[in-house]
Amino acid sequence: MTKTPAMELVLKGIKASPGICIGKAYLVDKEGVEVVKKYNIPAKELGKEINRFKSAVKQTSDELHRIIEDSPEEFRQNANILETYILLLKDKMLYERTIETINDEHVNAEWALKKVVMGIRMMFLDMADEYFRERGNDIVHVSDRIMRNLVGEEQVNLGNINKRVILVAEDLSPAQTSQIQLEKIMGLITERGGRASHTGIIARTLEIPATLGLGQSIRVVRHDDIIIVDGNEGVVIVNPSDDTLIEYEERKFAYERYKAIIARGSYEAAETVDGHRLAVMGNIELPEEVVSVLDYGGDGIGLYRTEFQYMNRSEFPSEEELFDKYKDVVDVMAPRPVTIRTLDVNGDKAVSWEQWSREEINPALGLRAIRYCLKKPKIFKTQLRAILRVAAYGNVRILIPMISSLEEVIETKKLIMETADELEKEGVTFSRTIQTGVMIEVPSAVIIADSLAREVDFFSIGTNDLIQYTLAIDRGNFEVAHMHQPLHPAIVKMVKHVSDVAAGHKIGLYMCGEMASDPIHVPLLLAMGIKELSMNPQCIPEVKRMIRSLSLEGTKDLLDKALTLNTTLEINNLMQDTYGKILSDIASLK
Ligand code: PEP
Ligand code: MG
Repeated sequence: MTKTPAMELVLKGIKASPGICIGKAYLVDKEGVEVVKKYNIPAKELGKEINRFKSAVKQTSDELHRIIEDSPEEFRQNANILETYILLLKDKMLYERTIETINDEHVNAEWALKKVVMGIRMMFLDMADEYFRERGNDIVHVSDRIMRNLVGEEQVNLGNINKRVILVAEDLSPAQTSQIQLEKIMGLITERGGRASHTGIIARTLEIPATLGLGQSIRVVRHDDIIIVDGNEGVVIVNPSDDTLIEYEERKFAYERYKAIIARGSYEAAETVDGHRLAVMGNIELPEEVVSVLDYGGDGIGLYRTEFQYMNRSEFPSEEELFDKYKDVVDVMAPRPVTIRTLDVNGDKAVSWEQWSREEINPALGLRAIRYCLKKPKIFKTQLRAILRVAAYGNVRILIPMISSLEEVIETKKLIMETADELEKEGVTFSRTIQTGVMIEVPSAVIIADSLAREVDFFSIGTNDLIQYTLAIDRGNFEVAHMHQPLHPAIVKMVKHVSDVAAGHKIGLYMCGEMASDPIHVPLLLAMGIKELSMNPQCIPEVKRMIRSLSLEGTKDLLDKALTLNTTLEINNLMQDTYGKILSDIASLK
């Protein structure tokens, strides 16, 4: 019997980071269980160990059934392979032999399974018939799933990957994304997450094509499968046919040409046809990304997320280390502004250090960002010292995340003053005249914006969290990712309110949430008087292009109209009806 080529499968997810890549799949979660430890099981515990194995098999079977049920119609015809897997779970060679091995050799289930699978692998490898060799592969694949359920979640060190691959994961933690080496990782697909999740944000910042929120359908992907990730459309193609490969090579080429065209105008100022100028800035996570901000024509850094320097390590960074990292960015960007956000740790950016991470039942509402920093003044002050010191070398601003009360602002300002006094006493070079601002990303901050505005130099609106907390939409949950909508009437009204307050107090008004990065939102933001829009560097050219095609006067009536509408759809339609031509001209370059 000849080998049938693997079936081409199309999976649909959320477009999280644009671009197209073609390459081999690297299963992050599977790789995590490559190293299996052997240990002895006492005779009286053998029953328990066998039951542990049986429940891992049951869990795997439930998983496979769920994948079949959740699969879209076009994919369901291909579910027969998954049904074969379900049958194989109870295959004598695999199931009974593993139980026998646990019993006979008094070993743990993982070791027994590994030993049995190695035996099966050798047996099938020796067979001349390709069909039987394929069946052997199926058993190995099924056993990988059982193994994963046996050992539970294990994290793999992405820094150790030594070939060019596309990552396939349930989700990636910020600690993992910060290990990504750009020359190795071509693309990214995940089961969970959406555009506003941290994995999505990082993928865009690193310019890695990514489709997220694929749900359980992602589990059909096997290690080393050829896959295409189309982050422009939110599609993944597993085992593409030759025709599909050719088609996507062409699409990839067209997309790269589009990027080149759009980048050409990126150095021109973002000025409307009636002469109103905006600053279009870059969001960065790592100092190395400043180059990308400059390449795409960014006018400064509107958001430097500093928490990534605290991950994948066993101790807190020192003041000197932080100062050096910040200085790298400030030196490259000078005289442009650099907005350093203080540690926004925990929530969906938890780090796994024992000494400071605790299990929180609802981390998004827990000891996150400024709450954590105010509770740990020593750690906070180390960062504040580094920021105040680097402020002496450029145009640096300090931005405080997750403010939900006036007291937090007052307490933070007090700590900044104390830190400045200490530096002065020590005779260290620093700047006291640093601009201080707060993120407006919690609904209570919108409501008390008037009192906050008296205390700060600027507001920066963080729509990723503002939407999460206002609409009760977990930003990392793909089931509700479609509801994470910046044009929801509540969000439009909140942003307008914050803008009015900032104008009344004559303080800076910026936006660094993802809302700023989509050209369709730009007319409303322009009309509201937002002075700076900050985004993933690669979105800068499109947003600048959009601004250059607008007139400020024209957007004001549009804003008045939008504020009378009651649904996201109506506001979206209004934007499309008014600016559809410009938006499609920008999109048609693709
Ligand atoms: C936001 O919440 O909009 C924001 C910019 O911050 P982060 O995405 O880092 O939470
Ligand atoms: Mg936020």
